[in-house]
Amino acid sequence: MADFSLTGKVALVTGATSGIGRRQALALAQAGAAVVLLGRRAAQLQEAVAEIEAVEAKAAALSADLSDRDQLPNIAERAMVPFGSIDILINAAGVNLRQPAEEITLESWDTTLNLNLAVPFFLSREFIPAMEKNSWGRIINIASLQSSRAFPNGLAYGASKGGVSQLTRAMAEAWSRHGITCNAIAPGFFPTELTAPVYNDPDLLNKLAAQTAIGRNGELSDVDGLTVFLASPASDYLTGQVIPLDGGFTAK
Ligand code: NAD
Repeated sequence: MADFSLTGKVALVTGATSGIGRRQALALAQAGAAVVLLGRRAAQLQEAVAEIEAVEAKAAALSADLSDRDQLPNIAERAMVPFGSIDILINAAGVNLRQPAEEITLESWDTTLNLNLAVPFFLSREFIPAMEKNSWGRIINIASLQSSRAFPNGLAYGASKGGVSQLTRAMAEAWSRHGITCNAIAPGFFPTELTAPVYNDPDLLNKLAAQTAIGRNGELSDVDGLTVFLASPASDYLTGQVIPLDGGFTAK
């Protein structure tokens, strides 16, 4: 019988104050994990923690800004405090500045590539020694349709998400031998703060829904199953994969 239980495991979810990360934190908690939620906005963070505690699961808030890479070792150390370890890391924090080529500056490029691509690597690396000791760990990155497709104003974002796909494979190559798997979820369109510009354009939204095989865009609850599967012992032999969660968008 496949083991989808996360009882006794501790997860850290970045970008957990909103959208996909927040939903993933709840899904992991409902499957039995204790969850540390990382975010910058104190009020939203407390709300997300309270949502998990309301289903009688364990959660703790970690208030942190990931943009300063020098702080990542310190952030990782603080993440271990509430429940003593981190077995599962979800790198869900991300930014999409949607700039046309001529508006991209060195600074905006760095903001995107840093948060979306460098942070998932450097933060994950902080947890590897402890995961190696346990011979078990899970890293879940969030890729995108733009990991493999070009969208308007997606130069920096697409470059970062293309990088996330390859980073996922390379991390799997580096660490899977020690029982640490690394996979990525590549979502289609889901209603979050990040996609507000798309959701404010009903014509575009309908076109995107029509592009899927299922005929609709994503609901946040659609991320639950794959998230729990990738975090659980049931996926022990699955690593280095970028799994589209897009209603068949990329199948058509
Ligand atoms: P979101 O904006 O709700 O979530 C992103 C989170 O990252 C926010 O809570 C934001 O505050 C946080 N964040 C940004 N900068 C940060 C920093 N410096 N330090 C800490 N946290 C920071 O949007 P979302 O759609 O839930 O995005 C989650 C992930 O999913 C992102 O990686 C995004 O690229 C990816 N994604 C989303 C979709 C979609 O349709 N929504 C599609 C493909 C990929």
